[in-house]
Amino acid sequence: MSGSAGECALSVIVPLYNEEACVRPLHEALVRVMDRLTDRYELIFVDDGSTDRTFEYAAELARQGRHLKVVKFRRNYGQTPAMAAGIDLARGDILITMDGDLQNDPADIPAFIDKMQEGYDIVVGWRHKRQDKLITRKIPSRIANWLIGKVTGVPIKDNGCSLKAYRARVIKEVPLYSEMHRFIPAMASVAGARIAEIKVNHHPRRFGVSKYGLSRIYKVLLDLLAIKTLISFSSRPFLWFVLLSVPAAVVSLVALFFSLRAFIAPEVEATVVMPGVFILFSALTTFLIFCGALGELIYKTGDIDLFHLSSLTVEVHRPGEQAHGSGSGA
Ligand code: UDP
Ligand code: MG
Repeated sequence: MSGSAGECALSVIVPLYNEEACVRPLHEALVRVMDRLTDRYELIFVDDGSTDRTFEYAAELARQGRHLKVVKFRRNYGQTPAMAAGIDLARGDILITMDGDLQNDPADIPAFIDKMQEGYDIVVGWRHKRQDKLITRKIPSRIANWLIGKVTGVPIKDNGCSLKAYRARVIKEVPLYSEMHRFIPAMASVAGARIAEIKVNHHPRRFGVSKYGLSRIYKVLLDLLAIKTLISFSSRPFLWFVLLSVPAAVVSLVALFFSLRAFIAPEVEATVVMPGVFILFSALTTFLIFCGALGELIYKTGDIDLFHLSSLTVEVHRPGEQAHGSGSGA
């Protein structure tokens, strides 16, 4: 709504869904911390289709100060899309994301900035004394973190902590959907991002209610499966499809064996079943192999930068030339 003058160094992005009781105290706490850090900052509150007075209160605050921008979604899209909208709008060099329910502590932000200045691309918060329910929150989260670490090879202790800092040019390139915000560090580290983890405060929820139940678990598991496929096979689609075709090839070979046996040995009764199975499964095998070949072609010739290597490569300067990103073939 209102923007800060001049260039912006830091952007703080907060998704809010029915958090009317938190908006004002959160804004106050953020302004207190950020004013001490720099004048070149912006706060971006994204109202994710709240049905309470979250937007009203936020809009009022935006009219009063010059640092706050408020975005409103027409309906509830979810925390990750809300975060993505804020990231899109942000103009800072360093972007900080956090929850808007006062469970994350704005007082931790300076420690994130210090760590970023050591040269990291992403700094991740670790809620080492997490104040949430044990059975529905802490245990599933511990299992998810362990799984994510195993699958991605990036052992981050607390992927679910929203309080994180990112270099803008890294995070702006990462596609965000579903519950994907949890996987940003893992995805980015595959592309070589430097990641640090720092301990942060975590408070119990004082106002409002949590927006998630156990249904989050299956969504996170599905996202993890998608990410595993991306990480392992995005650069080798042919291999992935050939592996998929192996069981079909085995079935078709077995069927071929029985079909031929009936043909050669007259005492075996010939039926249409085995030749039918052979035709079906050999067609499936061929189809999968062609899909793999197509995938390989698309990967090799398409303009795909899945892990956004171009955003992480260092600028190359040569005398007499303009600067190019090394990722784009400089
Ligand atoms: N949130 C959102 N859209 C949603 C669900 C949540 O913007 O559909 C916001 C919510 O307002 C809060 C943050 O995301 O600022 C985290 O949500 P919540 O506190 O409910 O999650 P938990 O801390 O229980 O994991
Ligand atoms: Mg919360």
